[in-house]
Amino acid sequence: MLKVNDVAVSYGGIKAVRGISIELKPGELVALIGSNGAGKTSLLKAISGQIEIDQGSIFIDGKDMKGISAHNRVKLGLAHCPEARKIFGNQSVMDNLLLGAFLRFKTEKRAAINETIEEVFTIFPKLKDRQNQQAGTMSGGEQQMLAIGRALMLKPKILILDEPSMGLAPVIIDEVFNVVAKIRDTRTCSILLVEQLAYRALQLADRAYVLEQGVVRIEGTGKELQNSPEVRSAYLGGH
Ligand code: ATP
Repeated sequence: MLKVNDVAVSYGGIKAVRGISIELKPGELVALIGSNGAGKTSLLKAISGQIEIDQGSIFIDGKDMKGISAHNRVKLGLAHCPEARKIFGNQSVMDNLLLGAFLRFKTEKRAAINETIEEVFTIFPKLKDRQNQQAGTMSGGEQQMLAIGRALMLKPKILILDEPSMGLAPVIIDEVFNVVAKIRDTRTCSILLVEQLAYRALQLADRAYVLEQGVVRIEGTGKELQNSPEVRSAYLGGH
């Protein structure tokens, strides 16, 4: 589904990603964990085509992404739900969801899009209640849910979630991880999850990679990494 081979990214002289290879299989949830500055966000941006890569290759569904714009990667089914949830604050919740489906309007009937809206409402019942509310007036947690819901409106093959728990209260974080688990359980898309809360990410992940200073230090199943003494001491303090 997604294959990243020996990818490097730099900003001027700063090497943020130094030859990373990762894989995401159909229906899988893969977590990327690692401390601040490990290169997680840079790797995601390289995958979604927001920044250039210095070396290596990225394949989506067997197709080489070299020269493919971020916009065209979205068309191929890649939805990136960014760190700072960029919802359209002045628009209603419903309009935000419809905007998430903008590419589908060209080729699909409104009924198909309405069906996805209903699916999103099943995962996020609160969004149904709030569908006419101006999105910017919702709480941080609700806005995060909307950002994920909007990404799902694309019916993505690959969903990239960058720090979905960022800035949220613990009880809301539980809700966010519950919905990520629900989406994973549908196995209708592959999920690449970047998360500071390593313990929570590993609980959800089929497989995970630990990044350190731009390289993959450790990889394994979510269970293996939860039980790894190295991961426990460095990233799972207290768990
Ligand atoms: P965080 O969890 O803090 O977001 P991260 O693992 O996502 O960290 P990146 O944001 O990818 O890490 O950063 C990797 C390295 O690249 C860091 O040293 C960072 O300072 C540097 N970096 C990131 N973005 C830029 C930029 N636009 N210009 C220069 N350096 C950058």
